[in-house]
Amino acid sequence: MGAYSAVTNRESPIGRILARGRDGAEVYQLMIEEASTLYDRNFDYAIRTLNAEGCTVTAKPSQLVQDIMRTHRPGSLGACATRAGVFESAMTYIQAPASHVDEIRCVHRGDPVCEYRIRYV
Ligand SMILES: [Zn+2]
Repeated sequence: MGAYSAVTNRESPIGRILARGRDGAEVYQLMIEEASTLYDRNFDYAIRTLNAEGCTVTAKPSQLVQDIMRTHRPGSLGACATRAGVFESAMTYIQAPASHVDEIRCVHRGDPVCEYRIRYV
């Protein structure tokens, strides 16, 4: 799920932002720092680690959403899987193969944030 978001977003503001990246580190930096609010305002995104082989990204439910929905775990496992697919597709904006993505922490498994390990191919 989510892996085809690059097909529909290629000509959108998201696509134009991500296409500026010259490598994996730049693509994910642009995705998190400039484009994440265009994807999703229910979670706050941050890069935890970033290097030439991959990165880790956290997604934390925004305080506003937690307050409004009266839960620390908004969304669903399906929404987390969709988010992983969106991360997988990021490199295709620069005509590179899709990344490998594992969700290594998840609010729906009791963790304070969802965390994704992303490896560029
Ligand atoms: Zn999750």
